[in-house]
Amino acid sequence: MLNLVLFGPPGAGKGTQAEFLIESFGLVHLSTGDLLRNEIASSTPLGVEAKRYMDNGELVPDSVVIGMIKNKLEANTDAKGFIFDGFPRTVAQAEALDQLLNANGTPVSAMLSLEVAKEELIARLLNRGKTSGRSDDQDESIIENRINVYNEKTLPLKNYFAGQNKHFGIKGMGSIDEIAARLSEAIKAL
Ligand code: AMP
Repeated sequence: MLNLVLFGPPGAGKGTQAEFLIESFGLVHLSTGDLLRNEIASSTPLGVEAKRYMDNGELVPDSVVIGMIKNKLEANTDAKGFIFDGFPRTVAQAEALDQLLNANGTPVSAMLSLEVAKEELIARLLNRGKTSGRSDDQDESIIENRINVYNEKTLPLKNYFAGQNKHFGIKGMGSIDEIAARLSEAIKAL
């Protein structure tokens, strides 16, 4: 089983590259951001609670996102593997993911970390905000907050996965195809 954590700051291209990886490697895509936006669109109680955090660029509580991932893993027991996009984002989430996957004997295979300069991230997110309809992509101070939250709470996960020899840095600048080729090469070498 191939279980990949696609890692990187907001605007690094995780969603775009996940599209390519699910096609190439036949994986199930689990994006907590997409799952949360679906909850908001359906006006569920979980969506209403999550929106308050998302609109400010803050993280939704660990228990909420871990519960969503657990449900998705249980609903896809015949998957060839998963690509985790935007999850885990805290050490507590990484520990929960390890526990869930190890219990099935299918641990995380690798964390692929897309590396992109901050100015490029802000430019990409503002550009995406023109068409995505995402309120958290339209305000520069919220984008800044998302990047700060990433640096403070999510970046430590690099060390967490490096400690398991599973961290692979991938240059996330250049064309979509170039970045896809770099990811593909790293996965084939696993
Ligand atoms: P994304 O689509 O991954 O950029 O996520 C958009 C927003 O959803 C984030 O800014 C958070 O508010 C929330 N979110 C998504 N994934 C997580 C997660 N794993 N943990 C906490 N909050 C999350």
